[in-house]
Amino acid sequence: MKGLNDIKRPIIISGPCSAETEQQVMQTAIDLKGTGKINILRAGIWKPRTRPNSFEGVGEVGLKWLIDAGKETGLPVITEVANAKHVEASLKAGFDMLWIGARTTVNPFAVQEIADALNGSGIQILVKNPINPDLNLWIGAIERFKNANLDEVHAIHRGFSSVKSKTYRNEPMWEIPLALKQEFPRINLICDPSHIAGRRDLLQSVSQKAMDLIYDGLMIESHIDPDNAWSDAQQQITPAVLNNLLSDLILRSENTDNIEANQSLTELRDSIDGIDNELSELIAKRMNLASEIGDYKKEHNITILQPKRWEEIQKKQLKLGLEEGLSAKFIAKYLEAIHQESIRHQTAVMNK
Ligand code: PEP
Ligand code: MN
Repeated sequence: MKGLNDIKRPIIISGPCSAETEQQVMQTAIDLKGTGKINILRAGIWKPRTRPNSFEGVGEVGLKWLIDAGKETGLPVITEVANAKHVEASLKAGFDMLWIGARTTVNPFAVQEIADALNGSGIQILVKNPINPDLNLWIGAIERFKNANLDEVHAIHRGFSSVKSKTYRNEPMWEIPLALKQEFPRINLICDPSHIAGRRDLLQSVSQKAMDLIYDGLMIESHIDPDNAWSDAQQQITPAVLNNLLSDLILRSENTDNIEANQSLTELRDSIDGIDNELSELIAKRMNLASEIGDYKKEHNITILQPKRWEEIQKKQLKLGLEEGLSAKFIAKYLEAIHQESIRHQTAVMNK
């Protein structure tokens, strides 16, 4: 069976949030196949729901619907498993791949149980990030599958639960999946714009961002009648709309063969490197001055923290930075880092 590594970027996984009826799964699969852009067919059979009494999936009967739709269209199929029983039923039904949901990745006991049930099966596993922004939980789950003799373990970024944002259903926090990719450079990293966005109008921009961050693929939910979907109705789109979204994606590559462009890029990067060197030297100089001030503070029994002075610096630099086109958020962040490092230097002087 072809693995994720054999599919040309971007790998596109699509299908309904939930398998609802045999006809719905089959029709979605046929329409998706018709776009010519889909590599893998998805559907949830067992649905982990936050609250009880909402639709919790059709259960085992749906496995065959998905397998049949896969056979009809020639697409490999994938579903979510959350315990050893799900694994057993899915392997028996003949699934090519399985994904681990965000609510499972948070639980090392559940992950280990699934990994044990899959040991040596040769199946491909896609691990969604845990609900909470904890990189190590995600890494740990991937390691448990790798330790279970599974060679093809990949990752799906579906965003993180956060009190902060009202824009996204799940805050993307792009830095976490990028850190994961650094930890496992050979892993395929798939973005799930549907569960990040939670609404249709954001799917395009989230998908584009993922492509610009060199993700390997996308998992996007699609449904023949999205408004009447039994789960995640607000974020699902028809195969036709998905087709447009994928056509509108701009696929940039990491490199270019254009010699002139490469030359210009090299020159610009050399300049950036030069400025980064100057910045490091300037910051070190600033810290030396902070240490000198520390000597005076120690000698004259003055506190390290000087709230008024700090406030003045912030105000002045915010004004200057804004005039130079920097964002307020960036200025605040970088000043905070500088301030903390200065305090660290002065504390060292005080404790000498
Ligand atoms: C899903 O893919 O339908 C799903 C339940 O996702 P998550 O585990 O990311 O919430
Ligand atoms: Mn869903």
